[in-house]
Amino acid sequence: MFEYQAHDNLLADRVILVTGAGDGIGKAAALSFAHYGATVILLGRTTKKLEAVYDEIEQKGYPQPAIYPMNLDGASPKDYDDLAQRIDQEFGQLDGLLHNAGSLGTLTPISQYNIDTWHQVMQVNVNAAFMMTQALLPLLRKSSDASVIFTSSSVGRKGRAHWGAYAVSKFATEGLMQVLADEEEEISHIRFNSVNPGATRTAMRAQAYPAEDQAKLASPEDIMNVYLYLMGPESQPVNGQAFNAQ
Ligand code: NDP
Repeated sequence: MFEYQAHDNLLADRVILVTGAGDGIGKAAALSFAHYGATVILLGRTTKKLEAVYDEIEQKGYPQPAIYPMNLDGASPKDYDDLAQRIDQEFGQLDGLLHNAGSLGTLTPISQYNIDTWHQVMQVNVNAAFMMTQALLPLLRKSSDASVIFTSSSVGRKGRAHWGAYAVSKFATEGLMQVLADEEEEISHIRFNSVNPGATRTAMRAQAYPAEDQAKLASPEDIMNVYLYLMGPESQPVNGQAFNAQ
């Protein structure tokens, strides 16, 4: 596990947007960021799940979060501009962005991979992250210490048979992260890094490995150290790097 001990109020006064915040790793990250003092914006496609996370954050007495239902599958550039405008109006700042929402597609050889599924996976995993980052850059540039985390995978660092669009989308995610890191280095205080969560007990993992014993896997809560480190001020000089949560 990535070694790091966050201190109380690590993320105080920061506004952080988490995509796919209703379930799995995104939910754990949203709760964890809020625990350490951040105001979190919960973005995802299932409003009920976002509401449950919202309630949990309120019950625990963390800073009041916000909900932003959005399906990344069909979202247009205008939707991302609206998102940026709403964040600017409501909070006037954005200090962190966790691109966590992801789509697995199917585990199929490339020779038989369905083209519509390919486009859908690339849309959610890569194009959405590109459009969202582009729309939110002006707000992130205003922050004195902004951090953007992209979510990768082991198959986004070494290709593996049958992982199709998902693997290719994660390679592209690493590329997007590196290009942004290089472009912004001289002109802003934004850092861009990627995290490979490693095998983690979530719905997506169960879909990919239905026969596996889930109890043996790390829980989303177990892998939060690297996310906290990258969102907090101690990672300030770190830019363009690929991390492993486990
Ligand atoms: P989950 O399936 O538990 O969560 C994925 C989240 O993304 C859900 O909240 C889901 O919303 C949201 N999401 C999916 N599609 C869309 C969409 N079109 N629009 C908006 N939100 C969407 O998966 P994990 O927590 O496991 O995955 C989180 C990230 O970690 C992903 O990027 C995944 O690729 C990556 N990862 C996970 C690993 C693991 O072992 N779990 C290993 C390596 C990488 P909803 O709940 O409404 O469906």
